[in-house]
Amino acid sequence: MDQNYDVIIIGAGAAGLFCAGTARLRGKRVLVLEHGAEPGRKILISGGGRCNFTNRQVRAENFLSGNPHFCKSALSQFNPGDFIGLVEQAGIAYHEKTLGQLFCDGPAQQILDLLLARCQGAEIRLSTEVLEVSHTERFMVQTTRGTFFAPSLVVASGGLSIPKLGATGLGYELAKKFGLAVVPTRAGLVPLVFTGVDLPWMQGLAGVSVPARVKAGKRAFAENVLFTHRGMSGPAVLQISSYLAQGDGFSTDFYPEARLDEVLVEAKTRRPKAELKTVLAEVLPARLAAHFAGPEPRRMADFPDKFLRTLGAKLNAFPLTPAGNEGFAKAEVTAGGVDTDGLHSKTCESKTVPGLFIIGEAVDVTGWLGGYNFQWAWASGQAAGAAV
Ligand SMILES: Cc1cc2nc3c(=O)[nH]c(=O)nc-3n(C[C@H](O)[C@H](O)[C@H](O)COP(=O)(O)OP(=O)(O)OC[C@H]3O[C@@H](n4cnc5c(N)ncnc54)[C@H](O)[C@@H]3O)c2cc1C
Repeated sequence: MDQNYDVIIIGAGAAGLFCAGTARLRGKRVLVLEHGAEPGRKILISGGGRCNFTNRQVRAENFLSGNPHFCKSALSQFNPGDFIGLVEQAGIAYHEKTLGQLFCDGPAQQILDLLLARCQGAEIRLSTEVLEVSHTERFMVQTTRGTFFAPSLVVASGGLSIPKLGATGLGYELAKKFGLAVVPTRAGLVPLVFTGVDLPWMQGLAGVSVPARVKAGKRAFAENVLFTHRGMSGPAVLQISSYLAQGDGFSTDFYPEARLDEVLVEAKTRRPKAELKTVLAEVLPARLAAHFAGPEPRRMADFPDKFLRTLGAKLNAFPLTPAGNEGFAKAEVTAGGVDTDGLHSKTCESKTVPGLFIIGEAVDVTGWLGGYNFQWAWASGQAAGAAV
C-alpha cells in the first residue's frame, strides 16, 4: 500500500495531534502514525486525570533548554490565551488550582476530544510501527501498515518518560539519522531517591507533606515537599529534580515564612517550659516536628541558645544530596533532546533538512511542572503545523 500525503506526523500525543489539527485547518492531507493502540495516552493520565493543560503565565524562564531563547518564538505565536480560547469554545469547564495552573473540572478525556475534533479529516493510524524513514525528494516512511510519502515529516514522538505508555527514543534516532545533534537526555520532574543516613528518617516520614522552598544554585521553588518510602517527591522536589545532575545537592527551607533560629530563641524566652516538639509543631507538620525535636521530651529551657539557633538555621536551609532519582519509569518529562541549534525557532524545522520538523518533548525544551509542557506541545505543534 503506497500513499501520498502533504505531511506525515509521527506520534499521536499532545504535540502531534495539535500539529495535525493546525495542518488540517490549512487543508493539508495529514497522516498521523502512532505505535500505541490509543492516541494521547499521556494526556489522559496528566494532571492526576484532570490535565493541567496550560498555565496563565508562560515565559521562557519556565523552560530548561540549551538555548533558553529558542522556545520564545513558538510560545509567542500560540500563547496560553489561545489554548484557553479553544477550551472555552469546546465548552470545557476548568479552574485555576495554584500558581496559574489550569486544570479541567472534569476528565482529561475532554482535552483529547478537543484535539481529535480539531484534527478531523486527518488520518490517524494506530498500532502502526515505524520501520524505516528516508528522504530523497520527499520523505518515505515504511511502517508495519504500509509505506507512506510526504514532502513534510513531523517528528512528535515525545521523550523517554514512562515507557509503559509508549515512550521510545525514535525521535532522537531520527534526529541523529538526519544529522541533528541530541543533547544528552535525563529524567526530569522526577521523585528523588535517597540512601544512607537520610533514607531511614525519610521513610519514617513517608506521607508527610510540607510547604517548603527548595533551592539548587540560583533556582528555587516554593511549593510542597513530600516524603516517600524512597526519599522525596512533591511539586517542589519534582521541579528542582529537573535541574539536578547526578551527585548534585539542594537545600530545603522547611519554614520559608520566618527565620526559625529567631522563632526558637524567642519561644525559649517566652515559654521556657514548652517542649521543643510542641514549639516546632506550631510551624511544621507534627511528624516532622517530632522527628527534628528528637525522641526525648525536653523543654525549651533545657537547650542552649546556640543549639536552638543551629537547629533553626538548619531547618531553614536543610542540605540534602539524593543518591539519584526514580528514572524514566516515573519521570513526567525528559530533559535534553534534539538540539535546538539545528532547528528554526519559528517553525521547529530542521535548518539542514527542509521539510523535517521536530516538536514537543522530543526537542531540548523542558517545562516546569504546572502546564508548561503541554503549552510547549501546543505551541510547537502550531508552529510546525502552520509551516508544513
Ligand atoms: C504522569 C504524567 C503527567 C503529566 N501531566 C502533565 C500536566 O498535567 N501538564 C503538562 O503540561 N504536562 C504534563 N505531563 C507532561 C506531558 O504529558 C508531556 O510533556 C507531553 O505529553 C509531551 O507531548 P508530546 O506530544 O511531545 O509527547 P507525548 O505526549 O509523549 O506523545 C508522543 C506520542 O508518540 C508515540 N510514539 C513514541 N514512539 C513512537 C514510535 N516509535 N512510533 C510511533 N509512535 C511513537 C507515543 O506513543 C505517544 O503517543 C505529564 C507527563 C506524565 C508522564
